[in-house]
Amino acid sequence: MVGVLKGSFMFMADLIRHLECDVEVDFMGTVSYGASTESSGEVRITKDLERSVAGRHVLLVEDIVDTGLTLRYLLDTLRNRQPASLKVCALLDKPARRRVRANLDYYGFIIPNAFVVGYGLDYAEKYRGLNYVGVLENPGS
Ligand code: 5GP
Repeated sequence: MVGVLKGSFMFMADLIRHLECDVEVDFMGTVSYGASTESSGEVRITKDLERSVAGRHVLLVEDIVDTGLTLRYLLDTLRNRQPASLKVCALLDKPARRRVRANLDYYGFIIPNAFVVGYGLDYAEKYRGLNYVGVLENPGS
């Protein structure tokens, strides 16, 4: 399992406890938003995997897929490393703002076009610890 930091940590912790097979865990870090709710359209890797994924089965775990830019960048990056298989699981799918095609193999919920926080998801590093996912009204005010 490859978790995409930071937002997926809580979902991944719950997900792994429901898997019946033993898996290894690694993380990748990306930034695209900074302290705003609008994607800059630019994706940057802030933390890379510790081990090679060549020839191994990879499940990429995302918190939320919005424009799809982060996911596409990560999939392109991981595919180049020649894993045996590569699948994607996202807790939340927000298709309204999709800019590039993104095929999710597994997802939890499709949500409308709102900025959500909690259960690992933040706004400017706040709200990650909420035990639920909620819509942030008037972000920035
Ligand atoms: P994308 O590249 O698909 O536009 O965005 C992916 C990343 O943007 C997610 O992994 C997440 O970090 C952030 N993101 C997108 N939508 C939301 C949202 O509604 N709430 C929060 N907290 N982050 C979001």
